[in-house]
Amino acid sequence: MPTPWLKRIRRTGQLTVHNKAGDWRMAVEAAIKTFNTLSLGVTLVAEAEEKSANIVVKLSDGKETYQYYGDTAKADFDAGELHGQASTLVDGKRMEIFFCVVFLPGKVKKATQRQKEVIVVHELIHAAGLNGLLPNGVKDPNDDHDSVGIMFPTMKVDGDGLIEYMHDKGAKPMTPIRIGPQTLCKTRALWNGDACKAD
Ligand SMILES: [Zn+2]
Repeated sequence: MPTPWLKRIRRTGQLTVHNKAGDWRMAVEAAIKTFNTLSLGVTLVAEAEEKSANIVVKLSDGKETYQYYGDTAKADFDAGELHGQASTLVDGKRMEIFFCVVFLPGKVKKATQRQKEVIVVHELIHAAGLNGLLPNGVKDPNDDHDSVGIMFPTMKVDGDGLIEYMHDKGAKPMTPIRIGPQTLCKTRALWNGDACKAD
């Protein structure tokens, strides 16, 4: 299930992003621009100060911790696969997100700019609230991935782009990003308060 950001942040319609993604820096910049064209109800804004950002994006070897004041975001994923990890910190009482680290797969060799951009946009959508958590904070087996488009759970290489591991006949590799209706509906529900039947 999706999780909303803190109300005071949601009201701004913005999330600030600190980009410390090393070799992936350019792809992260491109992904932020692309994210902002998807009409998700939230706009990403660059934040130069790491400590002030809502989201920090960094390369990872898949096993690390990130200290955010008194809280810890954890990376625990295979950083050699074409998928990162968005680690959201959730206020247990409000059940609202107050911070997120997007860990990018630092062990992926030879990914193209297009492929990196797809991976980053996918994780930024997780970061915007599609974090697949149940209200008790446990990972939801029926998570916030989609049956089509950018939030498909697993991607494979197709030329210099990425495509859903299982995709409709005639589907083209991304970029450009294709966004599934479920993803659009869930994200808009979080940020605009639009009704989303699927949820
Ligand atoms: Zn995912």
